[in-house]
Amino acid sequence: MKLDVDALRYLSKDDFRVLTAVEMGMRNFQHEIVPAELVERIAGLRHGGTYKVLRNLLKHKLVHHDSSKYDGFRLTYLGYDFLAIKTLVNRGVFAAVGRQIGVGKESDIFEVATEDGTVLAMKLHRLGRVSFRAVKSKRDYLVHRSNYNWLYLSRLAGLKEYAFMKALGEHGFPVPAAVDCNRHCVVMSLVKGYPLVQIKQLQNPDEVFETIIGLVVRLAEHGLIHCDFNEFNLMIDDDEKVTMIDFPQMVSVSHRNAKMYFDRDVECIFKFFSKRFNISYQEDRDEEDGVEYDSEENGRPSFLSIEKSAGFLDKELAASGFTKRDQDEIEKFIEGGPEPKDGSSSDDESSGKEQTADEDNETVTTKMVALQLADQQVKSSCCNDEERVEENLDS
Ligand code: ADP
Ligand code: MG
Repeated sequence: MKLDVDALRYLSKDDFRVLTAVEMGMRNFQHEIVPAELVERIAGLRHGGTYKVLRNLLKHKLVHHDSSKYDGFRLTYLGYDFLAIKTLVNRGVFAAVGRQIGVGKESDIFEVATEDGTVLAMKLHRLGRVSFRAVKSKRDYLVHRSNYNWLYLSRLAGLKEYAFMKALGEHGFPVPAAVDCNRHCVVMSLVKGYPLVQIKQLQNPDEVFETIIGLVVRLAEHGLIHCDFNEFNLMIDDDEKVTMIDFPQMVSVSHRNAKMYFDRDVECIFKFFSKRFNISYQEDRDEEDGVEYDSEENGRPSFLSIEKSAGFLDKELAASGFTKRDQDEIEKFIEGGPEPKDGSSSDDESSGKEQTADEDNETVTTKMVALQLADQQVKSSCCNDEERVEENLDS
């Protein structure tokens, strides 16, 4: 999605006040389409003129107008982007938005620059935007699909990513430095390197391979599984240093499918390295640094041998505002990344991950389906913080 931030400069205080009012109507009053009258009431512009402002927001595609049931508006992703960006700019996190550097299935990534010229990366989460995989038999769900939940889910994904990045960084994992987050937007340090999938040659493929397998194992020792650990989510720089990214789908080793997710993460790496770098793993080792390697499974690290300290990061995660309950909520939607398919690597199209598919009416997503089913839960979990309306409007 193109992010034209020029309009940001031309938007007035009233524009943002009304845009925030639409968000409040969706979030606090749980309207999919917020009645225009409610927008007016929440915004409470001293001299009136909410409708004129709404027309201006509509012109800039920051809101969507819907009069099928009543006269109402909802935020577009662009509108949500603007609110997050403005908040972060106000906080002094960055001062300018630059070019787009990545597009995932569920996110857009841009360069942003701070006042002193430091370039950072900004990830805008876009849950519910694109298909995850075809589940055509469940098509019906699309008909009733709600535009409201993406806002909640994308915010949750952003918070989760930020909290994990921060906690993992504090425990010495090679991840981007977590800078800040707001709504669905996460700001982090820019990784100077390329996704492994783009790397055709390595000086020391064996070393990189060992480092990467070591990472999955160390994560599990810390009670965590990445669940989308593959050549798209590992960045390699010129010195062949590895950085791991993309955390919204991580789960705990106490998850009921933990072993399957762990084995799948490991398998993705084995497959990729054997295919691209012709690495055949040392199959005869059986133990190293306390981790057992399963000779019956061609020398893969054995999940069961890894000491489980499940949930030890809970405290760190909660410190960023991401709770166990948030984790339970988000797991319903993005459990374990792509569907398991005999441990297939993600360069296999069917894994669905990282496809740059546009909205395709023919494809229905498992997440969409889950989204519909959990609609009620989402609604009840959205806080009823009407008293915070004013506070938010003034920020
Ligand atoms: P998604 O969840 O949509 O897969 P990712 O976090 O994997 O999103 O990011 C998508 C792409 O954006 C990555 O493959 C990478 O090329 C780029 N990217 C993401 N984060 C950074 C970063 N911190 N620095 C540089 N590039 C990044
Ligand atoms: Mg990714």
